[in-house]
Order: sequence, then C-alpha cells, then structure tokens
Amino acid sequence: MTAPVRTARGSEELIRAEEPVLAHNYHPLPVVVARAEGAWVEDVEGRRYLDMLAGYSALNFGHRHPALVEAAHRQLDRLTLTSRAFHNDRLAGFAERLAALTGTDMVLPMNTGAEAVESGIKVARKWAYDVKGVPADRATIVVAADNFHGRTTTIVSFSTDETARSGFGPFTPGFRIVPYNDLAALEAAVDETTAAVLIEPIQGEAGVLIPDDGYLAGVRELTRRKGCLFVADEIQSGLGRTGHTLAVEHESVVPDVVLLGKALGGGIVPVSAVVGRRDVLGVLHPGEHGSTFGGNPLAAAVGTAVVELLETGEFQRRAAELGAVLREGLAALVGRGVVGFRARGLWAGVDVDPALGSGREISERLMREGILVKDTHGSTIRLAPPLTVTAEELTGALGTLEKVLTS
Ligand SMILES: *Cc1c(COP(=O)(O)O)cnc(C)c1O
Repeated sequence: MTAPVRTARGSEELIRAEEPVLAHNYHPLPVVVARAEGAWVEDVEGRRYLDMLAGYSALNFGHRHPALVEAAHRQLDRLTLTSRAFHNDRLAGFAERLAALTGTDMVLPMNTGAEAVESGIKVARKWAYDVKGVPADRATIVVAADNFHGRTTTIVSFSTDETARSGFGPFTPGFRIVPYNDLAALEAAVDETTAAVLIEPIQGEAGVLIPDDGYLAGVRELTRRKGCLFVADEIQSGLGRTGHTLAVEHESVVPDVVLLGKALGGGIVPVSAVVGRRDVLGVLHPGEHGSTFGGNPLAAAVGTAVVELLETGEFQRRAAELGAVLREGLAALVGRGVVGFRARGLWAGVDVDPALGSGREISERLMREGILVKDTHGSTIRLAPPLTVTAEELTGALGTLEKVLTS
C-alpha cells in the first residue's frame, strides 16, 4: 500500500458523524479503516494495523486475496444477479465443488450465516416431519448453552446471552438448551421429537471453547443411535481456520448437515450455505424455502474461487503450522499477564488477568500498538488472524501482546 487514502474527514470526525445516524448496535474500536491488503489494514490517517480478527473468520484468505478479487471482477463484468427464478451458469459448478470439498451431496445456497442457521433449522424440522415421522409442530432441536448462531428472532430464542435475547421476545418455541461439552445432558434431552442436535464444533463467541476430545464423536454416535440429525455450525470454525477444512475433522466426524458462511464469501460478498446429504436436503421442494440473492452468480463465482483456494490444502496447512507458533507464543505468556488460553489452528481465546484490564481495554491498548483484536466476554480476547499471516507477523503480534500486558 502506498499513499494513504484521502478522505474529506479524519477518523475522529467520522466516528462522531456515525453517532446520530447509525443504530448503536455495535461498539467498535475507535479505528476507521480505509484500505486493506492481506493481513494489514490502514486507517484514514495512513496508520497500519495487523488484522488479528479477520472479520470473525470472514477474511480467512486475507483482505482482497488476488484470486478472489479477480474472480469477483470477472463476474461483475458478465452477470451479477438472476434470482433463482432462472438458472445461472455459475451455480452448478459452485455447488458441485463445495459439496465435493465438504464430502457431501447437496448445497442450499444462502447469504448470511444467520440465514444458513435458519435454513438448517427449517430443513431439520421438515426432515423430522417427512422422514422421521414426528407429529406436526412437535419437533424439537437440542442446542448448547453459550451458543452463538446469529441474530434473528428464532436464533436469539435459544441464546443464553441475556444481552442478545432480552427485549426481543416472544420467542420461537421448540428448542432445548443443554450445557456444552456434556454428552450425558445431551443424551437426556434428545427424545423421539428431536429433529436435530445443533452445535458449534468450537464455540467461537463464547471464547473459543474447545470441547473435550471425544465430544464431537460422541454427538455423532448419540444422534445416529437416537435417530436425529447432527447439524454442525461451522460458520466460524470452518473453511481452514482450525487446520482442517472443517473443525469436525479433528475427530473424523461427518455431521448430517454443515452450516457454512463467513469465509465462504472470501471477505467480498456474503455467501452462506447449508450442505448435507441428499436424503436430508432433499426434503425441500419448490416454494418451501428460498432467497432472492442466495446462489447469485457473483456469490457463486467468489464462492467457487474460495473453494479452489481450499482445494489446494495450503490454507489448512498454514493454519495448522502457524497454529503451533501461536500456541507456543501464548504458552510463553501464561503467568505474564495471560491466565489461560484455548487454541486450535489459527484461532485462540486468550484469558487476560482481569487485574490488567477488561478485554475491551486490552484491545484498545493493542490497537494503539498497531494490532486489531476483539474481546469476547470479560477479560477474554480472541485471536483469529487471516490464514495468510506470516510467522514473523504472528510472533510480532505476540510480542506486542506481551508488551501491552507487562508494561
Ligand atoms: C457469525 C456466526 C453466525 C452468524 O453469521 P452472520 O453472517 O453474522 O449472520 C452463525 N454462527 C456462527 C458460529 C457464527 O460465528
């Protein structure tokens, strides 16, 4: 990146300008980004920051990956939207490649993560009525406490985060909440009305909580034995982040349905999908579900380019190799401002000594040192750099974290 992007207003002025006109549903760090490339972003004053959040994993391939930008440009010059009233020449290839990448049969293309979750819920319920034979309107879905699956009214209905829920009722019935990482509780909650167990293989928003080894395999065994679906929300954990294409691969588990989003759009357009076996996704018939933008040719072109990047295995390998660097670096900080951490691949939840500040305060201090991160709860910060980050950039960021925590 060369000369800074020129804007009529500076950072502080732009932040002040948002206040009266922008709904206050976020509390961003006080940085105004104007440009980005790879793992780096630049603010309107030309200051550079290493992006250690990567759009909550929407930017797994970094900002403006050349192959993705090229795919988008090429498609912009040809065809952007048809709606599903007509076919478009990009969708079949995208669905074929994505199904092959994730080892399954069928793809239901949507746009945002929350829509993929909503669509997964609808598919699971329809499957329960049409295939399993659950009496009409009686289907239940078992979910985990401290989940994050998005922000729609149905999804917040089964959130345990009061801030996300409170004030948005009445809520959608049909969900049972059990503790995460607790197979006995799951066993007790699943009955003949259960359409699906819906969980995150790693709970991202909860602080990158990694279940015990055997939990995901246990969920697979239990759901198969009890005759309900295993729906894995891989919207944040999937597409290379953990060192595998899907986080469930750590336990060699194949869910019935996988929900994808975030990185599927390459950081360019919102692209999400429900992927699963034909005997499950096949329950949908024309008119029963849809989306004006889902499967649009621009999304399909970018999504195909994303799948092509993942087919090389390079990003999964990088996440695994650099993940070791991240873990080692964090281990060295335990007792030096870090009280504990959980990490898998290039993804970590870091619990900072609360005496040193809230996660928000630590994030602000890191920002002033040129590192962008995001707190989750309390004094936990989350690290999820683009998978294109270099080992030097990563160790540099860990050095900055050490400086911020020990100075
Ligand atoms: C981000 C996220 C969602 C929601 O995705 P949106 O695109 O923000 O709607 C759902 N599930 C998980 C695990 C996520 O991380």
